[in-house]
Amino acid sequence: MVEYIKWLGHASVLISFGGKNIYIDPWKLIKDQIKADLICITHSHYDHFSPDDINKISKKDTVITGPHDIMKLKVGEKIEIKPGQEVNLNWVKVKGVPAYNINKHFHQKDNNWLGYIIEIGGNRIYIAGDTDFIPEMKEISADIVILPVGGTYTMTAEEAANAVNTIKPKIAIPYHYGDIVGSEKDAKLFSSLVLNAKVEILKVEK
Ligand code: ZN
Ligand code: ZN
Repeated sequence: MVEYIKWLGHASVLISFGGKNIYIDPWKLIKDQIKADLICITHSHYDHFSPDDINKISKKDTVITGPHDIMKLKVGEKIEIKPGQEVNLNWVKVKGVPAYNINKHFHQKDNNWLGYIIEIGGNRIYIAGDTDFIPEMKEISADIVILPVGGTYTMTAEEAANAVNTIKPKIAIPYHYGDIVGSEKDAKLFSSLVLNAKVEILKVEK
């Protein structure tokens, strides 16, 4: 399943499966990028919510999910999601899950910002968004987890590894490093601390 997941750098991810393309937090995209069937936005910070990049990949029937504060966007068929809510588009199920800080102030719980569980092709992919290792992660069940490791605004590599060791997915992918915060060192540290999952450190694909 991991071959269907492309890391576009920082917190941008593209999942392509069955002829459908799902972007999560597209940012700093190149111009002739493949068009999106679904765009999932986690929150309104500029490195996650980029109307310019959303415009580049939108077509007439692109669905865009996100928290309340991105609904001002002018393009796409928008669906507001709160943590705990699920949307079923027939070919994919998208569930919003909580994402927030517990030991810093950048992402407040009452913003209702999001991580996502995307269920496609028989796999559950958890993209954590900008979050710390929060108690709600104990309830998450996923085959693949994509977690921030860059620290400062999110979990550190150690905290992210603890989250993986709690969630127990098959595959764990680090992201939210290499631009703004964090480096490959964090990804490697994360990899060394994960116990029971295969860690895939993806190369940035543009
Ligand atoms: Zn953020
Ligand atoms: Zn961020």
